[in-house]
Parts: sequence; structure tokens; C-alpha cells
Amino acid sequence: MVFDPDKLRADAQNKAKENKAFLAKLKKKKPKDLDDETHALHEQVFEYTDCLECANCCKSISPIVIDRDIDRLGKHLRMKPSAVIEAYLRLDEDGDYVFRESPCPFLMPDNYCMVYESRPRACREYPHTDRKRFFQISKLTYQNTFICPAVFDVVEGLKPIYE
Ligand code: SF4
Ligand code: SF4
Repeated sequence: MVFDPDKLRADAQNKAKENKAFLAKLKKKKPKDLDDETHALHEQVFEYTDCLECANCCKSISPIVIDRDIDRLGKHLRMKPSAVIEAYLRLDEDGDYVFRESPCPFLMPDNYCMVYESRPRACREYPHTDRKRFFQISKLTYQNTFICPAVFDVVEGLKPIYE
């Protein structure tokens, strides 16, 4: 199925109030089995979600790029870290480096990542539905329901378990 970012945004907007309240409740309650349930849903959802059909994260938000990422990108691109910063990065309002452009300058037309092996850690970890202590990132997860169809579906899957 072709991914439609406008439909996801509309669906997330329709559930915005419900999702915000639900994720806030999870954060407060910290259910013991939350990570296990979330990780199981992550596996299920990524069986039918194809990032190469989507790439909406790479198209619409930037990861935070830390020094180690800049060094790794520099080696990959055979550029000095300072040149990587100058060519591709800017400081955001929190003082973190992010990509200057959106979509990401390393996203190719077929949705492959040009620097896949050396991509920033935040890219590797996105959309964070397989991380530990999932309750800690409820605000980020809420925001990601608008960006990532997998996050939207994981949150939907958690509702019958914890509502
Ligand atoms: S992580 Fe989510 S937003 Fe990013 S490409 Fe995969 S499904 Fe799309
Ligand atoms: S570096 Fe690669 S994975 Fe990360 S945002 Fe850019 S295209 Fe996507």
C-alpha cells in the first residue's frame, strides 16, 4: 500500500486528544510490561510497514546529529568534520546540530539512505518503539504519531491493552 503522509497527519489529528491523554496516562502509570508489549507490537507493525515505501521521517524531520555522528559521516564522505558541519548542518533552537535541509540531503530518490552504514545514531533508533523505558518518551511518541505510520499503529495497538 502506498504511504500517504496527508492521511496519516489527518488520522493523527483526529486522535490527537485521545493519544495525548493515553500516552500521558502510560507515562504516569509506567506499566511493568509496557516495554514487552510495545516491542511485540513494534515487530508486528514492521512486518507490514516498509520504510522504503515511506521515508517520511527522512523527508520531514531531522535527527539530532552528535559529534560522533559527524566524525562517522566525515569518514564516510571523506570530509573533515568541520566541512560536514558547513555543508549539511545547522544548530537548532536547543543548540543541537540538525540537518540544514529537509528532506534530508542524504535521502535518495528511491528512498534509500546514501550514508546508511554511517547514518546518525538517532536515525538508527527512530521511531524508538523498540527502546527500553518506552514510557519516558511519551511526548516524542505523540509527535511521532503524525510522522510515522508505525508509531501510529503501535499506539493504536497499545490502547486495548492499557485503556
Ligand atoms: S521509521 Fe516510520 S516514518 Fe520512518 S520510514 Fe519507517 S515507517 Fe516511515
Ligand atoms: S541520514 Fe539517512 S536515515 Fe538519516 S535522515 Fe538522512 S536519509 Fe534518513
